[in-house]
Amino acid sequence: MYQTYEKKFQASKTKNIFMKKLFAIFGDPVEHSKSPLMHNYVFKKLHYDACYTRVHLKDGTKLRDTFFNLKLSGANITVPHKEAAFKACDEVRGFALKVGVVNTIVNENGKLIGYNTDADGFMFAIKDFGDIKNILVIGAGGTSKALVSRFLQEDIKVTVLNRSENRLSYFKTLKCTCHTWDSFKTTKYDLVVNTTSAGLKDEELPAPKNLIENILNNTSFVADAIYGKLTPFLKLAQDKKITFKDGADMLLGQGILANELFVNHKLKQEDIKIQMQKSFNTTIIS
Ligand code: NDP
Repeated sequence: MYQTYEKKFQASKTKNIFMKKLFAIFGDPVEHSKSPLMHNYVFKKLHYDACYTRVHLKDGTKLRDTFFNLKLSGANITVPHKEAAFKACDEVRGFALKVGVVNTIVNENGKLIGYNTDADGFMFAIKDFGDIKNILVIGAGGTSKALVSRFLQEDIKVTVLNRSENRLSYFKTLKCTCHTWDSFKTTKYDLVVNTTSAGLKDEELPAPKNLIENILNNTSFVADAIYGKLTPFLKLAQDKKITFKDGADMLLGQGILANELFVNHKLKQEDIKIQMQKSFNTTIIS
């Protein structure tokens, strides 16, 4: 699948550069990303002349140069480069400006314009859980920043738990309750969200097992930003019969909003949503 996109992308670059728009996702790791499948499916089904691929980028400071070298019209940014993406932009708009985290870049007449579609994507994902008033967020990276800021806008009470102290300073300025593993005492939550990358490439829990067990015994719902696999965190929630979801709906939500930006709102949101949802049940693009 990866090679198929790569071949189409290379062909697009050489043959049709002046017509076909090229998009990519930057990340490390990036092989797991479903974004090429989702966006290519929409482009194909809605007859939008564009192609989307993956770029494995190790050094976030090279994002801007790589973007221009590949002659991209837009990109998504995943772990761990969302804060580097903020710095790479000429202008940042909307929610991304508030949180300093960019997951979508559009090339507007040679200028890089940054947006954040993750937070609204996640709100879309947790609609099914009903009225959520009190959330524990595990992790303090780019995704956590976006989600926490969005939860606070909805007047949701937020506690942040992170492995290390450094990244908690941002959340302290937002007046969230913040803890590292050592200082944390469990209380009751409506929802616990894992925004760490623990479980993405490995089989790790986002905090020591006794802490996670305790947390799961005191929550109604569980969500993980990671998608496409049952992480050890979700597996424990499943064992405890807690209603949970992985990051697939969040992925869909952020993808629809990013696609609208890529096509400059020339396609209808409802049509993008229908096709992107269908892409989840597909593994081959013909
Ligand atoms: P960042 O690199 O910005 O942050 C990573 C966070 O995870 C930090 O708080 C870090 O803690 C913590 N962490 C990393 N490894 C471990 C570990 N082994 N144990 C405990 N904590 C750990 O990442 P992002 O915020 O960009 O992405 C986080 C995750 O969210 C990724 O898995 C990504 O794939 C997923 N994601 C999914 C989306 C979707 O659409 N479903 C959208 C966006 C992200 P510390 O500060 O101590 O280093």
